[in-house]
Amino acid sequence: EARLILVPTPIGNLRDITLRAVEVLKEADIILAEDTRVSSKLLKHLEIEKKLFAHHKFNEHKTSSSIVSKIEQGNTVALISDAGTPAISDPGFLLVRACVEKDITVECLPGPTALIPALAVSGLPTEKFVFEGFLPQKKGRQTRLKILAEEPRTMVFYESPYRLVKALGQFAEFFGPERKACVCRELSKMFEEVKRGTVTELAEYYTAHPPKGEIVIVVEGRAK
Ligand code: SAM
Repeated sequence: EARLILVPTPIGNLRDITLRAVEVLKEADIILAEDTRVSSKLLKHLEIEKKLFAHHKFNEHKTSSSIVSKIEQGNTVALISDAGTPAISDPGFLLVRACVEKDITVECLPGPTALIPALAVSGLPTEKFVFEGFLPQKKGRQTRLKILAEEPRTMVFYESPYRLVKALGQFAEFFGPERKACVCRELSKMFEEVKRGTVTELAEYYTAHPPKGEIVIVVEGRAK
């Protein structure tokens, strides 16, 4: 049956690709990629020779209906993003919704994503959590932080290395200086680093050691 399959790809270590992901990419009629240059390297590594079509935040509004037609014509479409699971702080949601509206089968393979290893390794409660993705960069950031000050569940954020210290400082300001957190940097890569402490301690550490690379911040929820 023709369908849409979301295929997670490694967040750093290429060996984290799953056997099923390779199988699906080999068998798909069409592969959509967020950045065809990034993904063609992965496909080359996997020895899959197939043309990639671009599906990114700048065209996903327009292309969803033509992709839906391709699936209705009998093509199985695989969607990949630059890293991790499509539709998680990445393009995919609009296409999934368009397929759901047309009763097209949608599958997502389990696989790499940055938030789950960060949460699991944080040492903060994992039973209940919220994924906040990226905070707004400017407008709406403070409003979001005010709302989150009341959040009792563990919170997971994606943040750029350039805004890490700013974010930690704001967590101290809005959530209190003693709030615990965990910064996970470069997960699954050569320079993987996990630092735990209060938001104040972490802000000091990263002021002294300006970070590079990709970062997930896990923050303790408000005490009951
Ligand atoms: N779709 C991806 C996923 O499933 O996690 C997320 C894509 S989002 C555009 C990229 C952000 O994910 C980065 O800015 C960083 O916050 C986080 N991220 C991706 N790879 C990471 C890694 N190896 N280590 C830590 N964080 C990572």
